[in-house]
Amino acid sequence: MDPEAVLDLFRKSGALLDGHFRLSSGLHSDRYLQSALVLQYPEFAEALGRALAERTRHLQPTVVLSPALGGIVIGQEVGRALGVRAVFVERQDGAMTLRRGFALAPSDRVLVVEDVLTTGGSTRETAAVAEAIGSHVIGAATIIDRGADSAKFGLPLQALVRLEVPAYPPESCPLCAKGEAIVKPGSRV
Ligand SMILES: [Zn+2]
Repeated sequence: MDPEAVLDLFRKSGALLDGHFRLSSGLHSDRYLQSALVLQYPEFAEALGRALAERTRHLQPTVVLSPALGGIVIGQEVGRALGVRAVFVERQDGAMTLRRGFALAPSDRVLVVEDVLTTGGSTRETAAVAEAIGSHVIGAATIIDRGADSAKFGLPLQALVRLEVPAYPPESCPLCAKGEAIVKPGSRV
C-alpha cells in the first residue's frame, strides 16, 4: 500500500481533514488527524495491518506489543497478519505496564506497533517494558509517522506514511492571520 492509498483511506473515513482546527491542546492546525476514525472500519484496519506486516515480517517478530489505547486495534491487525500474538501495555500510576496476565519471554522478538508516532516517546516507553523483561525489541512500526526522530529511540522504524501535522499557538497561527473560520474537530455538520 503506497502512502497515497493510505491517506485515501484516512480521508474517506474522515480521519484526516484539511481546514483550520482547534486541537484539544488548544493549538491550531491546518490538519486534523484521528486514526480511530479509519480503524473503526474493520476492512481498513485489516488492510493497514497487512501493509505493516509486509514491511516487518523479515524481522521475524514473535509478538506485537502496542501502547493502549491508540495502538490496540492496529496492533491486533498486524498480529493477525503476521500470525503472532498481539498484546498491549497500559498506563498504571504513570508508568506503562503489562497487565491482564499478558506476558513476554526473554526469547520473544518484539515488534512495537502504534497508530501514530508523534515524538516517539510512547514507542520508547513501550519498548522499555519489553527490554526490562529481557525480550529482544526488533523494531517499531506505525501507520503514520508525524516526524519522530527514529535515531532518538534507537529502533528501526517502518511507517506507511510520513505526514506533518503542524500546530500553532493561536497568536501565531497563519490561518487566523488570514481570517479563516476555525472549527473544533468532531463537531462537523
Ligand atoms: Zn488559527
